[in-house]
Amino acid sequence: MIEYQNVVKEYQDNGALIKAVDDLSLQVESGELVVLLGPSGCGKTTLLRLTNRLEDLTAGQILINGQNILEQDEVKLRQKIGYVIQEIGLFPNKTIAENIGMVPKIIGWSAERIEKRVQELLEMMNLDADLFKDRYPAQLSGGQRQRVGVARALAADPELLLMDEPFGAIDPINRKEIQDQFLHLQDKLQKTIIFVSHDIQEALKMGDKIALINNGQVVQFGTPEEILLEP
Ligand code: ADP
Ligand code: ADP
Repeated sequence: MIEYQNVVKEYQDNGALIKAVDDLSLQVESGELVVLLGPSGCGKTTLLRLTNRLEDLTAGQILINGQNILEQDEVKLRQKIGYVIQEIGLFPNKTIAENIGMVPKIIGWSAERIEKRVQELLEMMNLDADLFKDRYPAQLSGGQRQRVGVARALAADPELLLMDEPFGAIDPINRKEIQDQFLHLQDKLQKTIIFVSHDIQEALKMGDKIALINNGQVVQFGTPEEILLEP
């Protein structure tokens, strides 16, 4: 479970104070996929970056399974959190297998265990492992790279998955397919996921719950049905 308690993030921008996140509170239960839905600039990405400590909180607290993120080692914290962004930074000079195996390698998995995991993850993402594992990112299509990005985020079985418009750069037909496959996978994985989107159709389709964000605050929170019914 993840709890955001009165989270504030301020930036100084040429002397002006910007409240990117403004006293935001939200609770995400274990195994739940919550979509943060809102217009550009409302603070969605900032909230994810605060969660894996790529940014520092101005005020408030974030707890993961009851533990304050500030009391955890930053590197260890990031190893427990999978992070997928739109144009994922796969390392261009590493093969697909090396990209996926990065965190497992850092945390000391054996080469054999990593190889098995890479195989399993590529198949999970509907990519032929034998065909793709030794390729480099530039030899894949955009959609295929994005699947690898998801596989990499899942590699060490993270407690929490942060996904920032993960399918936003994929063309509409492939996007629908990868959304469907990912939902099917999530049925089995039951990961705790925070999923950023500015697309209401995507939010309704993907979310167990939706948090509508505006000006750095949660303005509505509920299941897709509840969000649709409320005025
Ligand atoms: P979203 O992901 O919803 O589009 P962001 O979290 O990226 O929104 O941004 C929220 C607000 O914070 C915006 O007004 C943005 O310009 C501002 N912001 C984000 N990062 C910085 C930064 N590093 N410095 C100054 N302002 C920032
Ligand atoms: P998309 O429609 O997702 O943009 P692309 O047109 O980029 O797909 O790629 C189509 C196919 O060509 C994919 O199966 C991809 O693996 C393959 N491909 C693309 N670029 C290369 C490359 N540089 N080397 C080998 N195969 C490639």
